[in-house]
Amino acid sequence: MLRLNGMRPPLVAIKGSHTLTTYTMEYKIQTIGVLTSGGDAPGMNAAVRAVTRAALYNNIRVKAVYRGYKGLMDGEVAEFTTQNVSGIIQRGGTILKSARSEEFKTPEGRKRAYDTIVREQIDALIVIGGDGTFTGGRVFAQEYNIPVIGIPGTIDNDLWGTDATIGYDTALNTIVDCVDKLRDTATSHERVFLVEVMGRDAGFLTLNAAIAAGAEAAVIPERATVAEQIETAIGQGRRKSKNSSIVLVQEHAVEGGALAVQQEIEKTHPEYNVRTTILGHLQRGGRPSAKDRILASRMGCAAIQALLDEQRSIMVGIQNDEIVYVPLTKAIRTKKDIKADTWHAMQILCI
Ligand code: ATP
Repeated sequence: MLRLNGMRPPLVAIKGSHTLTTYTMEYKIQTIGVLTSGGDAPGMNAAVRAVTRAALYNNIRVKAVYRGYKGLMDGEVAEFTTQNVSGIIQRGGTILKSARSEEFKTPEGRKRAYDTIVREQIDALIVIGGDGTFTGGRVFAQEYNIPVIGIPGTIDNDLWGTDATIGYDTALNTIVDCVDKLRDTATSHERVFLVEVMGRDAGFLTLNAAIAAGAEAAVIPERATVAEQIETAIGQGRRKSKNSSIVLVQEHAVEGGALAVQQEIEKTHPEYNVRTTILGHLQRGGRPSAKDRILASRMGCAAIQALLDEQRSIMVGIQNDEIVYVPLTKAIRTKKDIKADTWHAMQILCI
């Protein structure tokens, strides 16, 4: 709760209000809660560490919430000191664990979460996750008038308002490493290698990994049809007198993913031997890259600064290497598009 001149205001939810105008006197955030939610991403630990240390540096207590919104509803909370976040910056996954919770989408579920907030005397919440996490955080902030700050932690890089999300760089490097290895065997046989890449509804990982790995084509939801992409891939391979092609397929570019694309190629080009590799959860694992650790550290510190600056319902983002605050509503509702020059580069470079 926001404390007025050291006094705790009555513990009532102020429905529909999400500004600080209700409180005209000076207030101070004394305790924050921090959680990770949705899919885990490498670098989340670095963000938890930064949030914790930046809060303690500013004499703010830290309550770590385990298992995302589920843990918030179930009261899975522990107070963190600086030692709790020692030796975690290099670790993948999240020490706070992550979870998806349908119950938090209901008013009853969020009421249970709010009970924990009251019991643990949490004044503000920092949520690390993707657009689902921010949607939940925004609803909760509105219903219970609690400041919520989002930190983008997802390998998909699909959030508007930030050039990068925590985990994206590491996942990109993991995918490129895998494709490099596949290429060694692909060139030994007359084959089309399909590699299925994660990304929810977005093609950032697929397209940029395709460029970095020198693939023949990238099949992404935002651009050309699957049939066009297949023709591009096979056509390019032939033109280059190659007997094999590597095509990266975004998991939701076509219903059924890369295996559905394989069936299609086998029908239209029976002369090709098609092999599909689904990278799956490999893409989420591993030690975070230096870039992700730095991004997470900067964003974690900026999230605490945002609270000190009386910001609420915002996402911390990075644009042109500057930290920015973006309204959660905008980050969630605006579609982030593939850069036209990136797509164009892919078309040029695969000739
Ligand atoms: P990723 O991009 O890695 O999948 P995410 O944050 O988008 O991460 P989701 O599973 O979509 O992952 O969302 C995480 C959690 O946020 C959900 O399990 C749910 O508890 C909460 N959430 C999502 N949408 C809503 C909503 N409309 N209302 C309330 N809570 C929500």
